[in-house]
Amino acid sequence: MGKSVLIIGGGAIGLGLAYHLAGRAEVTLLERNQLTSGTSWHAAGIVGPLRATPNMTKIAMYAGELFPKLEEETGLSTGYRVTGGYWLAREEARMDELHRIASLGRHFGLTPSIVTPDQIEVPGLNTGGLVGGLKVAEDANVNPVDLCMAYAKGARAKGAQICEGVQVKRLLVENGTCKGVELADGSEIHADTVALCAGAWSRKLAQEAGVALPLQAVEHMYVVTEVMPQLPQPFPVLRDLERWIYVKGDAGKLVIGGFEPDAQVWDAYGPSGDRPFLELPENWEQFTPFMEAALELIPALEQTGIQHFMNGPESFTNDTRPMIGRVPEMDGLYVAAGMNSVGIMSSAGVGRVLADWIEEDSAPMDLWEVDVARADPLAAAADHMEARMAEAVADNF
Ligand SMILES: Cc1cc2nc3c(=O)[nH]c(=O)nc-3n(C[C@H](O)[C@H](O)[C@H](O)COP(=O)(O)OP(=O)(O)OC[C@H]3O[C@@H](n4cnc5c(N)ncnc54)[C@H](O)[C@@H]3O)c2cc1C
Repeated sequence: MGKSVLIIGGGAIGLGLAYHLAGRAEVTLLERNQLTSGTSWHAAGIVGPLRATPNMTKIAMYAGELFPKLEEETGLSTGYRVTGGYWLAREEARMDELHRIASLGRHFGLTPSIVTPDQIEVPGLNTGGLVGGLKVAEDANVNPVDLCMAYAKGARAKGAQICEGVQVKRLLVENGTCKGVELADGSEIHADTVALCAGAWSRKLAQEAGVALPLQAVEHMYVVTEVMPQLPQPFPVLRDLERWIYVKGDAGKLVIGGFEPDAQVWDAYGPSGDRPFLELPENWEQFTPFMEAALELIPALEQTGIQHFMNGPESFTNDTRPMIGRVPEMDGLYVAAGMNSVGIMSSAGVGRVLADWIEEDSAPMDLWEVDVARADPLAAAADHMEARMAEAVADNF
């Protein structure tokens, strides 16, 4: 069987890669704690096939094809459900962008349509102040942990070895080639290729091997409300773009999160950095503007309590685009990290293109906008990356 490939990290990205590569290569995935215990278990589970650029849309759309198939193949539910959604605009200039994205989506076979505020069919929504929106019938939800478990089962069935409780200490490098990894217990595993999919913890493993990756973890947060009996089912995914918030339904409750300017940086190597299923403290200073925006958009929230405040680390990049592909300065090393809060929905497409790339040793499509080869080592400097978080997170919208 093909190459031997070691995948570091058992989150959505490492598992999506293992699923696509299993059976085509000898795959071993190493997870230091339990599968999903880094960032993936936190995720809100929004799946948005329409992105701002053609190639990101191609990658994201594949989730809509794979997630239902994965359920059939593995017998495990992923919770995938098409809900539809709206991108909401409060400025005319934003409508120009939405028109452009709508035509991009139509080109790829999606069915987006531009709507006026009174065509937004969401009961209870305050459309005052909106100038219009983009309706996307294909927006969806998935359960991130269930999705990861389905990837793992599918990968194992095709021969992948998935090991939990195995921590990689460092990459083994000889003459500019990555030859495998050294584990925390001092043992070594050698392989033809190593794929670094360690999410927020990828930066240091790369750095210690001489590869500078512009990655920075930040606090990313959402709240889950109490049950709201009047909510339509399913509830569409809403993105109030000028207010930086997203809203989705979750079993009769709402999940409200956002992408703020001046995001709070988080030290992945600090005292709690290694803790599995880590929840960061509630951060109302950061979250209050999101809550105010949500109250204006959905006035019924005034009578609704908050059941849970979820705050987890997520890995961002300097230009809000992921770092994917073959690391140019080191043979044998691939990376897929810095998912900028869309790693669950992207895990199918990223897993597929990276698996093809590893097998063929060349990118299967034009991936320049996400190619790790674009990374400027100077941009990876810690102080620069921290400063970039003033804008990079909010740039999502
Ligand atoms: C609050 C919140 C809401 C979100 N909502 C959404 C959403 O709605 N939709 C969406 O698409 N995305 C969402 N995201 C983003 C998404 O969760 C991430 O992009 C995605 O989980 C990243 O997956 P990953 O596999 O790269 O990282 P991780 O899930 O962090 O996986 C990396 C794994 O590597 C392991 N690891 C680290 N170091 C080592 C080592 N030395 N040796 C072995 N293993 C190691 C870690 O333990 C971890 O399990 C959200 C994120 C947060 C925090």
